[in-house]
Amino acid sequence: LAPLAALTSAILIALIIWVSRQRMSPRSELQLGLKRNEFIAVYQPIIELASGRCIGAEALARWHRPGGAAISPDVFIPLAEDNNLIEQLTERIIRVSAGELGPLLRGNKDLHISINLSSADMASGHFLRVLQEVLPQAGIAPAQIWLEATERSFIDVERARTILDQARARGHPVAIDDFGTGYSNLSLLEALPLDTLKIDKSFVAAIGQDASTSVVVAHIISMANNLGLAIVAEGVETREQESYLVHAQARYAQGWLYARPMSAEKFTSFLQDNART
Ligand code: C2E
Ligand code: CA
Ligand code: CA
Ligand code: CA
Repeated sequence: LAPLAALTSAILIALIIWVSRQRMSPRSELQLGLKRNEFIAVYQPIIELASGRCIGAEALARWHRPGGAAISPDVFIPLAEDNNLIEQLTERIIRVSAGELGPLLRGNKDLHISINLSSADMASGHFLRVLQEVLPQAGIAPAQIWLEATERSFIDVERARTILDQARARGHPVAIDDFGTGYSNLSLLEALPLDTLKIDKSFVAAIGQDASTSVVVAHIISMANNLGLAIVAEGVETREQESYLVHAQARYAQGWLYARPMSAEKFTSFLQDNART
């Protein structure tokens, strides 16, 4: 009878959790999720086009809600932003990535992890204090943590410049993310201290589909090359897109053609395979 009682109470507890979650506001649910460490990171390899070598990975947040349906980052990230919780999420992703990939990064100083930042991160700079605490403990060099900020996050350009200057002074490379999707201010590229430009996947998707957009991609790449920025093309899915990008002289690429986002464990074996070939 004991197993039956245990089963019944387990079901009852699951039911209570489920019912209470149904009645929670998105903010409370996010808060609870943060408290319970339900946010994890997956890593998507970034590849050097000329050599095929993996130079690092982008950390992407996932929400593992027990008993709940999967929610895409495109939904929970804006929710966290609107509810003042994004800085806590950024902190969590930094801590998780440093913890999981610390040994890998210590053993390979050429390898990096990219962390996504939102406008609240850019406004407060809290993530810099987190990095300052976490990286020495984990034995990770600042140059191994790249920072990705979108055009949308530069609400206050002066403030953003101050934060990014501090980040770069510490040795963190800085990338402008989703380039081309925001107000695409070309002057932003000169106004801000940047190392890398990530071309949004909507542009990459147009290669071979839409001739005029493909030309824009080539122009963005040549402009970025002229400004001395390294280019990462996002969302590369086909060989056709890849060869266009190689021809246009993009340096790095990221996308399903190479690998989907994966666990730290899978990323470790992905790197071993990548080094062998
Ligand atoms: P993003 O920073 O532009 O990240 C790239 C997105 O493209 C990821 O979506 C990735 O899974 C997806 N992707 C990669 N390769 C391909 C491909 O070949 N084809 C297609 N169709 N998609 C590809 P994901 O993981 O769903 O994240 C969506 C967005 O959520 C991210 O876009 C980023 O803006 C935001 N995000 C994710 N994690 C974090 C985080 O920790 N912090 C912040 N602030 N934002 C995050
Ligand atoms: Ca990104
Ligand atoms: Ca992006
Ligand atoms: Ca994007």
